[in-house]
Amino acid sequence: MAKKGVKNNKQAKRKENRAKEEAALQKLEQLIEEYDPKTQKPSQFQELPISQNLIQGLKEASYSLLTDIQREAIPYALKGNDILGAAKTGSGKTLAFLIPVIEKLNRAKWTDFDGLGALIISPTRELAMQIYEVLLKIGKHFQLSVGLVIGGKDVKFEMERIQKINILIGTPGRILQHMDQSLGFDVSNLQMLVLDEADRILDLGFKKTLDNIVANLPPERQTLLFSATQSKSVSDLARLSLTNPQYIGVKQAEDETATPDSLSQSYITVKLEDKLDTLYSFIKTHLKTKIIVFLSTSKQVHFVYETFRKLQPGMSLMKLHGRQKQTARTETVYKFTKAQHVCLFATDVVARGLDFPTVDWVVQVDAPEDADTYVHRVGRSARAGKSGKALLMLTPSEEEGFLKRLQSKKIEPKKLNIKQNKKKSIKQQLQALCFKDAELKYLGQKAFISYLRSIIINKDKDVFKIEDVDKEAFAKALGLPSAPQVKIKGESKARELKNVSRQLLALSKANDDGEFKEEDKKVRTKYDRMFERQNQNVLSSHYLKIQNDALKDENDDESDSDGEFMSVKRTDHDLVNEDLPDLTAPTSKRAAKRALSKKASLNDKGNAKKLVFDDEGNAHQIYEFQDEDDFKAAGDAKLQKDDFIGKESEVMQVDDESDKKLAKEKKLEKKRKRKEAERLAKEGYNDDPSERDLDAKSDDNSEDERPTKKPKWFQNDKVGGKTSKDDGVLEIEEPETLEDLEALTARLIQD
Ligand code: ADP
Ligand code: MG
Repeated sequence: MAKKGVKNNKQAKRKENRAKEEAALQKLEQLIEEYDPKTQKPSQFQELPISQNLIQGLKEASYSLLTDIQREAIPYALKGNDILGAAKTGSGKTLAFLIPVIEKLNRAKWTDFDGLGALIISPTRELAMQIYEVLLKIGKHFQLSVGLVIGGKDVKFEMERIQKINILIGTPGRILQHMDQSLGFDVSNLQMLVLDEADRILDLGFKKTLDNIVANLPPERQTLLFSATQSKSVSDLARLSLTNPQYIGVKQAEDETATPDSLSQSYITVKLEDKLDTLYSFIKTHLKTKIIVFLSTSKQVHFVYETFRKLQPGMSLMKLHGRQKQTARTETVYKFTKAQHVCLFATDVVARGLDFPTVDWVVQVDAPEDADTYVHRVGRSARAGKSGKALLMLTPSEEEGFLKRLQSKKIEPKKLNIKQNKKKSIKQQLQALCFKDAELKYLGQKAFISYLRSIIINKDKDVFKIEDVDKEAFAKALGLPSAPQVKIKGESKARELKNVSRQLLALSKANDDGEFKEEDKKVRTKYDRMFERQNQNVLSSHYLKIQNDALKDENDDESDSDGEFMSVKRTDHDLVNEDLPDLTAPTSKRAAKRALSKKASLNDKGNAKKLVFDDEGNAHQIYEFQDEDDFKAAGDAKLQKDDFIGKESEVMQVDDESDKKLAKEKKLEKKRKRKEAERLAKEGYNDDPSERDLDAKSDDNSEDERPTKKPKWFQNDKVGGKTSKDDGVLEIEEPETLEDLEALTARLIQD
């Protein structure tokens, strides 16, 4: 009797609660209906027609006052409008789309059984993670399940859970991969699509992927686009089938710049060959700050990071680029966020959207490819009203042209001059480092080549002129004995590309990292064609891309880095891509020791003791330490000098030869290992196809230490939280017989 009473009581209570919830939801609907975004200008979140749970979540995350873009965009989005929102970097766009996403599903009483309700697309993995973090924080009083799918992680793990996800955040390639592969991943119920950094996702680099994603989505969804730089091309909007979008903040006032007011911007003119000297001096004089240094390619980041670490400027250094393993990338973001005084060398993989607290300086050692990229890079500083500084290095040849590009966005950085007495040259030290360490030297060569490539493929030929690059001086500045000869294979390619605009070409080759990505140069065999034909109904073009890429990797080890536009030659011997070793500069103490041991040591190579390092790490020729009398006794100074130079060049020559041999050995070893791995590989790829090329590389490139500790903020990641196992890239051997072909097909379908 008593028991029954309790039960009845409980039921009644539940009923009452449900009725309350229902009433609250109805009230919300009504408030939204009555809300007039044109006249109502709320200043606090609690004035918005949103649920108490969300207001509570926002409060607990210490958000109380609305930013401008939030005030303007959220009400329209709540009312169901499609939105095209533009607002400066750091102005709070993330909440401007997350709040409507949560509320839409909340009002629809979304549950696990309703499947995917909202899809949020980010151009980079790191940005996807940050959006995910914010969503978890403000949405903690809801039952909605949130998932993160990004490349470089365990795809199987994600697949098992993806069907239960209500709000999915991810990078384009990985999202499409799940659409193609994950059973039970049903998007037919989707209510909302969000593109963060929309202009980037809409550009040519992601075109195919995005179009394929959108083709799977129901057309009657609501769509929100946000970015700091927004193109409103009609064709783009058509691609997303937007209906009467509300343009919010898209049109900038005449005199308004695209960068935050709290950002102080300056530039210096510096020759290419003096950039690293200037950077080093800059770091030395800003040890108590937090800096992001942008370089144009991963190779340069890698080289500058490795050499600067050895020069020990006196502050902690980090690097982030698309060729690192995802675990290392994630850990770097985490550490950089926490650190107070640190310098991060990075490519444009961190240019967009990432929210690091209190970055004091953004230093652009290499000019950004265009003015939009400039806006995004400098936007990593001066966020949410905080102050920040930006310094741009322009070469004399770029100066006038690039300043004009910035002017068209009303950006006018102040010109600074370098104080000569603060300038310190590190050229000699870099030369000594490269001389001593073959790996560093090859890293330098790679950096050299990749920089030239970045200039060559830049579509803005009025600003970036390859003919103005002093290659010898640049090579010397990187510490190289001479400039690797870079030949531009013009003719046949030029003929082929006659009708393709440069812009299209550059964009189609640009990958996620803003870097050059080589086109598939493999000649297709009849088997490839057969494969494509046979599987027309089974595999999407997306699969075929993967297949082609896998085959390409099979054939070309350095394929993602060294394009067919150029071949590399050196004056003393042919240095082709195949000769380049794994560019593994030692990162751990043990690795460093190994690198300096027998094989890498100059002791093996003859004249090993010519360079001596002083306490500051500066290199000196041994005769500098010679007693003056001894020196004189050895004969005429000029003769001694000539003799010395002669011997040194001999050593360099010998060194180059043995470096080359070492490189070949490494290459063979790498190939052997890959073959082995292939045999062992039973599973499908687990990478983000959009970034696949980059990351597949990093995985067989032991460039980075493997962090053993999982970053804390990553652990509550419901979908992607498991650390990815190693690589899982589907490597495919060239099919030789029909049986091979069938087996291959089976594997692909199975995966
Ligand atoms: P955007 O996407 O426009 O570059 P973010 O959404 O990354 O900007 O926000 C930038 C910073 O401002 C973040 O650190 C975020 O926490 C903070 N922020 C956003 N909205 C608010 C708000 N309403 N009140 C206080 N801080 C906010
Ligand atoms: Mg953002």
